[in-house]
Amino acid sequence: MVVWPRGVDEAAAIVRVAATHRIPLIPFGAGTSLEGQIAALGGGICVDMREMNAISPPSIEDLDVVVQAGVTRRALDARLRPEGVFFSVDPGADATIGGMVATGASGTTTVRYGAMRENVLGLTVIDAGGEIVRNPLAGAQVIGRLRPHPAADRLGGTLGLICEATLRIHPTPEAVAAAACTFPSLDAAVRCVVEVGQNSIPVARIELADERQIEGHHQHDQTSFAVAPTLFIEFHGGSQAEVEAQARDTAAIAAEHGGGDFAWASDEAERRTLWHARHRAMEATRAMRPGSGALTTDVCVPVSALADCIAATQADIAHHDLVTSIVGHAGDGNFHVIVLLDPTTRPTSPVARSSTPAWCGGRSSATGPAPASTAWATARPASWWRSTGRRRSR
Ligand SMILES: Cc1cc2nc3c(=O)[nH]c(=O)nc-3n(C[C@H](O)[C@H](O)[C@H](O)COP(=O)(O)OP(=O)(O)OC[C@H]3O[C@@H](n4cnc5c(N)ncnc54)[C@H](O)[C@@H]3O)c2cc1C
Repeated sequence: MVVWPRGVDEAAAIVRVAATHRIPLIPFGAGTSLEGQIAALGGGICVDMREMNAISPPSIEDLDVVVQAGVTRRALDARLRPEGVFFSVDPGADATIGGMVATGASGTTTVRYGAMRENVLGLTVIDAGGEIVRNPLAGAQVIGRLRPHPAADRLGGTLGLICEATLRIHPTPEAVAAAACTFPSLDAAVRCVVEVGQNSIPVARIELADERQIEGHHQHDQTSFAVAPTLFIEFHGGSQAEVEAQARDTAAIAAEHGGGDFAWASDEAERRTLWHARHRAMEATRAMRPGSGALTTDVCVPVSALADCIAATQADIAHHDLVTSIVGHAGDGNFHVIVLLDPTTRPTSPVARSSTPAWCGGRSSATGPAPASTAWATARPASWWRSTGRRRSR
């Protein structure tokens, strides 16, 4: 069953019904999460939050804005830009704020502005018993206070339904510049990122793409980047001179690692094209093998371990002879491998089983924090569902 609440009271009533009848509850934002979080494995009520999409007038003095959970990132951006402010968290997909709070989303600008944790000032949440919990002060405190209702042990693990959020917003920078820079190897590009961080250059974005990814962009987005391991970098500053200084320092470090000249996106339209392409990494990779399925991994390690982790991952990819691309929010030590799969390959096949743990489990245990690998456990290609005769829940 899918329900679409239009306000906090309706949402609370839905949660109370689920709690009373012990029915699993699966909130749904935009469905862009990649790890199987919205799969209703035990059935239940899917609460689609997209009709709760109101945005209050932003407070320019306090630099905050109150939004309902179903507001999407792009809708919020369109509302805020004319006011000279922006919401910084950008996971790439057009996710909802509720989904971004629930997953603790990060993204291309986290290296400078932080993730959801740093940008959520308050929340209104329905706890699993149906009670409305409001805390205008600290989103993290609300999450900490939520306890599953004793009668709600089958709410599918949902601690609460996020209905509203007070978000930190930032003044639009006076000067912005973006560029792409190619490197002789992925390793050289990563080492450049590490050194940019060590030198405290406040880059707003620093994103990694391997040559396969760039080839995919050519096929999918008709881009003309040079085909080589690449960093996409954006600089924000209070003046043109500040941005130029950041760019000069970064270019000097890039040159030490064999980086080429910066190919500048000269105006806003070109910048948008550049980041639009970066945000379509998955589609671009799939364009290299039309009709193929894709599995993404998500690994985050201390930045100091990133180069070794990626090198070991590349060796695994070569060993298994897989078609992949690598992209990442390199400044945060985060990268994804997008593995193209023949749509007829079952997730239980030897190649899938033998290759995936190296990036989703084994590698991370050697080098750092845990990745998100739930997708492997729960997400199955359509062909798998067909072959079993079972129906995929939403
Ligand atoms: C191309 C691409 C790139 C991506 N890059 C990144 C990235 O760089 N960083 C990153 O963090 N993520 C990334 N993602 C993943 C995704 O965009 C984020 O996880 C996003 O935060 C999910 O938001 P959503 O609205 O789509 O949520 P959904 O996918 O609908 O839901 C995600 C989870 O949140 C729960 N949820 C949704 N709404 C609510 C609510 N109102 N109350 C309580 N729980 C709720 C759902 O039940 C589910 O468990 C990427 C996705 C794609 C497709």
